[in-house]
Amino acid sequence: VLEAPVVLRVRELDKSFRGLHAVNKVSFDLHKGEVISIIGPNGSGKSTTINLISGFITPDSGIIDIDDDPVAGLPATEVSERGLSRTFQNGRVFGGLTVDENINLGYHKKLQAQRPFKNLQKYPIVRWIPLLAETGVALIHGPKTQREIKEVDVRVGREVDRFRERLGDRRSDLTYTLSYANRRRTEIARAHISEPKLLLLDEPTAGMNQSETAEVLEQLQHLKAQGHTILLVEHKIDLVTALSDRVLAMDGGRIIAQGSPDEVRTNPQVVEAYLGK
Ligand code: ADP
Ligand code: MG
Repeated sequence: VLEAPVVLRVRELDKSFRGLHAVNKVSFDLHKGEVISIIGPNGSGKSTTINLISGFITPDSGIIDIDDDPVAGLPATEVSERGLSRTFQNGRVFGGLTVDENINLGYHKKLQAQRPFKNLQKYPIVRWIPLLAETGVALIHGPKTQREIKEVDVRVGREVDRFRERLGDRRSDLTYTLSYANRRRTEIARAHISEPKLLLLDEPTAGMNQSETAEVLEQLQHLKAQGHTILLVEHKIDLVTALSDRVLAMDGGRIIAQGSPDEVRTNPQVVEAYLGK
């Protein structure tokens, strides 16, 4: 994968919050088809790194390029339009929308990226939802033709069927009524269906039990096998080891070690960082 083109280039990325140096000169390249995991103790700057890359917060300095285009400082909606999709540490779905509608948002994002705002008059707009920007600003279409309804149905069905535990039985349920694990599955499906160039996942298994975690690992291995380019923040070291081409370990806002999963997890500084907390 290291010969593959660089999808995400990060150089000297820096962010302080009132004197707290949350991200300190972070640099790395993520190549097409590669899975990089960021590990590190709580407060080490992992989520902030993800939030900087996805445009949810603005860096103080540094370079972020997606496919050689500078995106540092762009708002999240624009970064999203460049092909980045993400999930959130605590999981974010629209509780007042169904599983289908949530996943649909990701699909519409993809359609819009392909033919932005073309044929708009064909679709009566029921409502605009200024989204939590990972899906861009999405449309929920009004009545569609039977063919369109069928197409979306099949695509969403494919996403939910990849998950065990009957997410498929819950497609018409409002997501606020779902179990935590099913909300997180919905979120991953929404990100995946948009066919992102770059997928950022912030602790996708946080709060999940062992079998749920194993299932998410299976899903992520599937995404990896499909050639997705993934930046993952994750604590569970077995999952990280099974999935990652490379691991970055952060502590106090800095990358303190990087390399293969085995190199990083046996690195004395990394062991120290975890044990010291
Ligand atoms: P991690 O994801 O590795 O647990 P974070 O990136 O969330 O760590 O946080 C890194 C540090 O930055 C922490 O000390 C955290 O309290 C601080 N921090 C994160 N976001 C903000 C913010 N919006 N305002 C102030 N401090 C923040
Ligand atoms: Mg975090």
